[in-house]
Amino acid sequence: MTDQNDILLGDHMQAWSMTVDRFITHAARWSGQHELVSREADGSIVRSTWATSATRARQLSAVLAAAGIRPGERIATMAMNSARHVEAWYGIMGYGAVCHTLNPRLFEDQLVFIINHASDRWLLADPQFAPLIEKLRPRCPTLERIIYLCGPDQLPAGAGVADYESLIDGRPTDVPWGTVDEHAPAALCYTSGTTGNPKGVLYSHRSQVLHAMICAQRDTMGMSVQDSVLAVVPMFHANAWALPFTAAATGAKLVLPGAKLDGASLYELLETEAVTLSAAVPTVWQALLDFLTTNRLPLSTLRRVIIGGSAVTEALIRGFRDGYGVEVLHAWGMTEMSPIGTISGAPPPAVAALGADARVAFNLKQGRAPFGIDMKITDDDEVRLPQDGVAQGHVRVQGPAIIARYFREPGEVLDAEGYFDTGDIATIDPHGYMQITDRAKDVIKSGGEWISSVEIENIAASHPKALMAAVIGVPDPRWRERPLLIVRLRPGQEATAAEFLAWLDGKIAKWWMPDSVLFVDEMPLGATGKLDKKVLRARYAQAATPSE
Ligand code: AMP
Repeated sequence: MTDQNDILLGDHMQAWSMTVDRFITHAARWSGQHELVSREADGSIVRSTWATSATRARQLSAVLAAAGIRPGERIATMAMNSARHVEAWYGIMGYGAVCHTLNPRLFEDQLVFIINHASDRWLLADPQFAPLIEKLRPRCPTLERIIYLCGPDQLPAGAGVADYESLIDGRPTDVPWGTVDEHAPAALCYTSGTTGNPKGVLYSHRSQVLHAMICAQRDTMGMSVQDSVLAVVPMFHANAWALPFTAAATGAKLVLPGAKLDGASLYELLETEAVTLSAAVPTVWQALLDFLTTNRLPLSTLRRVIIGGSAVTEALIRGFRDGYGVEVLHAWGMTEMSPIGTISGAPPPAVAALGADARVAFNLKQGRAPFGIDMKITDDDEVRLPQDGVAQGHVRVQGPAIIARYFREPGEVLDAEGYFDTGDIATIDPHGYMQITDRAKDVIKSGGEWISSVEIENIAASHPKALMAAVIGVPDPRWRERPLLIVRLRPGQEATAAEFLAWLDGKIAKWWMPDSVLFVDEMPLGATGKLDKKVLRARYAQAATPSE
């Protein structure tokens, strides 16, 4: 018999609050000797372990506590991936302060805006950024202290600067962690701000913990204690896609490449550290594949690569799969989603049954939503569209690690059903695969219909002579807009427009066919390595406008 009182007693399970420090505490206890391997600025390799780094992170918390930093206050980092940066994350967040990752590739004015907007009190930075930081400081009055992530020998000059090693040396290791509520903020990351000022996404401990667990699922990243994980994606680019959390949660070995992200340096780490899983944007992987092909090198341990941030090309999927037996996990997401939204990896049985070529076609799509993400596509009036793989609509998302409101901005950014509009346009097919066809602001509207610039780009980029391809809309008196194909050729290659148009012929609808092709020496990339179409439009849209 049920006693009515039992129901009134509420939750009968433990109140185990989800704070991010639990990740590294768990790693230190159960996988304490598993390594964190970092490449230093001088190219040398430094080794730590989860146990050692957890202790050092606690010592950093002791420094913050002694200096009177209060929980909730912002401590910034401007650093490449290293064990010290991982320790900084846990030391700051474990203590209850908010870790604000700064992207050093942003323009100076944007950095000044962000630091002031966040009221950052301290900045923990790699010494290589000292010249930039010295320029920013006079314009950032809230910044009291700069701590360089190095020893006393590498400390750059400057007023009020200190080195990390001397600072944490001999500090107590018993500062309490996880004392804040799980809904308290843990980390802050600003969007790259391609339109207007950057906007802050303030992650809570709970959202970070749940997001890392979403990522660790078998059909998402499927990380294991057996993995050696090379985190190429920078920790300032949407939390390095949660790798410093998921690696600690699983006890995996974590390899941190510092500033050297070229093909040769990454290859060396992949081989010497027996890396099994890695994550980066497509341009990094293309450079690695080119390096491997040119030098006829094998990959002995790598099994899976997570590629996201922009669309993956067929050349990349086939290059990894056919050349090296490496599986591509194509991921989509954004800063506002912590960032993982969908992933195209292990296919469901119905897709697996379609054979190897069909699997490539599905791998090119951005993938399926893991547990923890709900997703819909809608028309301009927020009406849901069918998931038939044909209807294109605005991608709207919901979940415990997805933004509700921007930091220090009024009001929620959700639709009537509580979904966030990602600004991406996509189809969803009957197998549940989402495929991005455009950014809403990059969509090409021709004769009242949408042309997918991304699809044309993918096909053009798979031309053997192409290094990169971009498609933008140029004004057209009759159709309103027509697509212009812009191509950067591989070094030493020459090609004609006719060659590229013939390559597209039969692969896209006739009316999608670009009216002209422009060859360029350089493609403008934004602060997170994405193609900057705003710059392309400014440079080429008018020049390419056909005269009547
Ligand atoms: P960010 O917040 O800087 O990570 O940028 C997020 C945006 O990058 C998304 O809204 C997409 O437009 C784009 N993006 C991320 N991953 C992919 C992908 N796999 N394919 C195409 N676009 C992507």
